[in-house]
Amino acid sequence: MKGCPKCKSNMIIDIVYGFPSRKMCDDATSNKINLGGSVKELKSPDYKCKSCGYEFRELDRFFKN
Ligand SMILES: [Zn+2]
Repeated sequence: MKGCPKCKSNMIIDIVYGFPSRKMCDDATSNKINLGGSVKELKSPDYKCKSCGYEFRELDRFFKN
């Protein structure tokens, strides 16, 4: 179960990288995903919290504890 490391909300969406397809654009419009741009870099976040807007990576959760 994904949760926001900042506000503990579970309203987390994926940040998707790469050239957006039609479906990705639709999903982004309906807030199911967040478009992160065409290139994913090492420090690019994987998830975004819909409650507080915080962006984080999968690994950040492990460093937290
Ligand atoms: Zn949050």
